[in-house]
Amino acid sequence: MTLKYCQGPDCHTYHTKDRLKGMKGSKTYQTRRRTVLYYGEFCDTRCYNDWFQKYGTRAVNHFGRLKEVKHLTEENAWSKTYDWRASADDSHRYFTRNEITKEERPLTEAQYADTNYTLNER
Ligand SMILES: [Zn+2]
Repeated sequence: MTLKYCQGPDCHTYHTKDRLKGMKGSKTYQTRRRTVLYYGEFCDTRCYNDWFQKYGTRAVNHFGRLKEVKHLTEENAWSKTYDWRASADDSHRYFTRNEITKEERPLTEAQYADTNYTLNER
Protein backbone atom coordinates (compact mmCIF):
# COMPACT_ATOMS: atom_id res chain seq x y z
CA MET A 1 0.00 0.00 0.00
CA THR A 2 1.27 3.45 -0.92
CA LEU A 3 1.83 5.88 1.89
CA LYS A 4 0.69 9.47 1.48
CA TYR A 5 2.76 12.28 2.89
CA CYS A 6 1.12 14.97 4.98
CA GLN A 7 1.42 18.20 2.98
CA GLY A 8 1.75 20.39 6.08
CA PRO A 9 4.86 22.57 5.58
CA ASP A 10 5.82 22.27 9.27
CA CYS A 11 4.62 18.71 10.00
CA HIS A 12 8.18 17.54 10.73
CA THR A 13 8.72 20.31 13.31
CA TYR A 14 6.08 19.05 15.77
CA HIS A 15 7.54 16.88 18.48
CA THR A 16 5.31 13.84 18.79
CA LYS A 17 6.48 10.27 19.41
CA ASP A 18 5.01 8.99 16.14
CA ARG A 19 7.03 11.54 14.12
CA LEU A 20 10.34 10.50 15.74
CA LYS A 21 11.74 7.84 13.39
CA GLY A 22 14.99 6.31 12.28
CA MET A 23 17.82 4.18 13.63
CA LYS A 24 18.71 4.44 17.30
CA GLY A 25 21.14 7.33 17.72
CA SER A 26 20.09 9.04 14.50
CA LYS A 27 16.36 9.54 14.99
CA THR A 28 14.74 12.60 13.44
CA TYR A 29 11.29 14.16 13.56
CA GLN A 30 9.73 13.41 10.18
CA THR A 31 6.70 14.34 8.12
CA ARG A 32 3.81 11.99 8.94
CA ARG A 33 3.00 9.26 6.40
CA ARG A 34 -0.32 7.45 6.33
CA THR A 35 -2.24 5.10 4.04
CA VAL A 36 -5.27 7.35 4.68
CA LEU A 37 -5.10 11.03 5.61
CA TYR A 38 -8.33 12.06 7.32
CA TYR A 39 -7.95 15.79 6.63
CA GLY A 40 -7.62 15.71 2.84
CA GLU A 41 -3.92 16.08 2.20
CA PHE A 42 -3.05 16.59 5.86
CA CYS A 43 -2.53 14.52 9.02
CA ASP A 44 -4.45 16.90 11.30
CA THR A 45 -6.08 20.34 11.44
CA ARG A 46 -2.84 22.02 12.58
CA CYS A 47 -1.06 20.95 9.38
CA TYR A 48 -4.18 21.87 7.37
CA ASN A 49 -4.17 25.37 8.90
CA ASP A 50 -0.39 25.74 8.46
CA TRP A 51 -0.78 25.05 4.74
CA PHE A 52 -3.66 27.50 4.35
CA GLN A 53 -1.78 30.17 6.30
CA LYS A 54 1.18 29.81 3.94
CA TYR A 55 -0.54 29.13 0.58
CA GLY A 56 -4.24 30.10 0.96
CA THR A 57 -4.05 33.52 -0.73
CA ARG A 58 -2.01 32.11 -3.64
CA ALA A 59 -4.46 29.20 -4.00
CA VAL A 60 -7.49 31.54 -4.11
CA ASN A 61 -5.77 33.75 -6.69
CA HIS A 62 -4.82 30.69 -8.74
CA PHE A 63 -8.29 29.09 -8.82
CA GLY A 64 -10.24 32.33 -9.12
CA ARG A 65 -10.91 35.03 -6.60
CA LEU A 66 -14.56 35.97 -5.99
CA LYS A 67 -14.92 39.64 -7.01
CA GLU A 68 -18.64 40.23 -6.50
CA VAL A 69 -21.34 38.93 -4.18
CA LYS A 70 -23.26 35.82 -5.20
CA HIS A 71 -27.05 35.72 -4.89
CA LEU A 72 -29.20 32.74 -3.96
CA THR A 73 -32.18 32.89 -6.35
CA GLU A 74 -34.93 30.48 -7.44
CA GLU A 75 -32.75 29.45 -10.39
CA ASN A 76 -29.87 28.17 -8.27
CA ALA A 77 -31.51 27.27 -4.93
CA TRP A 78 -32.00 23.52 -5.60
CA SER A 79 -30.32 21.19 -3.15
CA LYS A 80 -30.47 17.42 -2.92
CA THR A 81 -31.70 15.69 0.18
CA TYR A 82 -33.29 12.45 1.25
CA ASP A 83 -35.85 11.25 3.73
CA TRP A 84 -34.05 8.86 6.07
CA ARG A 85 -37.40 7.70 7.49
CA ALA A 86 -38.70 6.44 4.11
CA SER A 87 -38.47 2.69 3.52
CA ALA A 88 -35.90 1.41 1.01
CA ASP A 89 -38.54 0.61 -1.66
CA ASP A 90 -40.15 4.06 -1.39
CA SER A 91 -39.57 5.87 -4.68
CA HIS A 92 -39.89 9.24 -2.93
CA ARG A 93 -36.92 8.65 -0.67
CA TYR A 94 -34.63 11.02 -2.64
CA PHE A 95 -35.68 14.49 -3.69
CA THR A 96 -34.45 17.96 -4.50
CA ARG A 97 -35.80 21.03 -2.72
CA ASN A 98 -35.72 24.63 -3.83
CA GLU A 99 -34.61 26.60 -0.78
CA ILE A 100 -36.36 29.77 -2.02
CA THR A 101 -39.73 28.45 -3.27
CA LYS A 102 -39.72 25.33 -0.99
CA GLU A 103 -40.85 23.26 -4.01
CA GLU A 104 -39.78 19.60 -3.83
CA ARG A 105 -39.29 17.22 -6.76
CA PRO A 106 -38.53 13.48 -6.51
CA LEU A 107 -35.16 12.14 -7.64
CA THR A 108 -34.10 8.64 -8.55
CA GLU A 109 -31.29 7.19 -6.47
CA ALA A 110 -29.01 7.51 -9.53
CA GLN A 111 -29.85 11.23 -9.91
CA TYR A 112 -29.22 11.72 -6.21
CA ALA A 113 -25.81 10.01 -6.43
CA ASP A 114 -24.76 11.79 -9.65
CA THR A 115 -22.67 14.79 -8.51
CA ASN A 116 -23.19 16.45 -11.94
CA TYR A 117 -27.00 16.20 -11.80
CA THR A 118 -28.68 19.41 -10.64
CA LEU A 119 -31.65 21.57 -11.52
CA ASN A 120 -29.55 24.66 -10.79
CA GLU A 121 -28.63 26.96 -13.65
CA ARG A 122 -24.89 27.37 -13.99
ZN1 LIG B 1 1.11 16.78 9.26
